[in-house]
Amino acid sequence: MKKILLLLLFTIALNAQSLEIIGTPEPGRLLFCKAENIHWAYLNDKKLDTDNSGIFVFGFDRNDTGEYLLKVKHGDGKVTLKRFNLPERKYNVQKLTVKKKYVSPPKTENERIKKEREIVVAARKNIGEIKEPLYADGFIRPVKGGYISSIFGSQRILNGKPKNVHNGLDIAAMTGTPVYAMADGVVRLAADDFYYSGNFILLDHGQGLNSVYLHLSKKDVKDGDKVKKGDKIGEIGSTGRVTGPHLHWGVQWYNKRVDPADLLKIKL
Ligand SMILES: [Zn+2]
Repeated sequence: MKKILLLLLFTIALNAQSLEIIGTPEPGRLLFCKAENIHWAYLNDKKLDTDNSGIFVFGFDRNDTGEYLLKVKHGDGKVTLKRFNLPERKYNVQKLTVKKKYVSPPKTENERIKKEREIVVAARKNIGEIKEPLYADGFIRPVKGGYISSIFGSQRILNGKPKNVHNGLDIAAMTGTPVYAMADGVVRLAADDFYYSGNFILLDHGQGLNSVYLHLSKKDVKDGDKVKKGDKIGEIGSTGRVTGPHLHWGVQWYNKRVDPADLLKIKL
């Protein structure tokens, strides 16, 4: 009996060694997984993007709850299972006063906003094409200095009305402050003067991981450009719906909204 128990413990230890998980399984967070010889990986029914690099990523949306099962099949046929039970996560409430036209945009802008949304949807369709972890070199803060003016996940109350959730991290700094790519990637969209987001850039970092940089005064890249971590991609500005010059830095895994701040603590 003792022998069997020891063997069991040994097997569990071996299994645990074969899959390293970096990150905390909570709503609005990314998990990076490292393993040698990955054959495939699933999160519940969703097949995850993997390649022969031995690293892959997935994330939980700000509002995700419930149980998730990660299944990883290794090259030797062994399958590692990992269960996640997402705890509730509390977010803060942020009250803001903005120009009236930004709480409910004038009807004359509806067509423009709709078109802009379609452009973003079309650009996001290509995310997932890159199966390699372009991000594997790690992450940097896209602005040197400045201060955090709004954190991820806050419920916003605009002029007294509950509105959208804040899906990014705001770094306030002077107009013209350089903005850098948080990781290696490909420019999926370098957008001009959108109603809400102003000038902005959408980067694809592979395996569904993507980042946006909003309200720029200047863009240094165009659609399809390849960028390296730390490349200057633009400058801070106050274009779009803003109360002052800042960078809105957003990170998603596919359409799952996650906290950019976590990336700065992660060592891959
Ligand atoms: Zn923001």
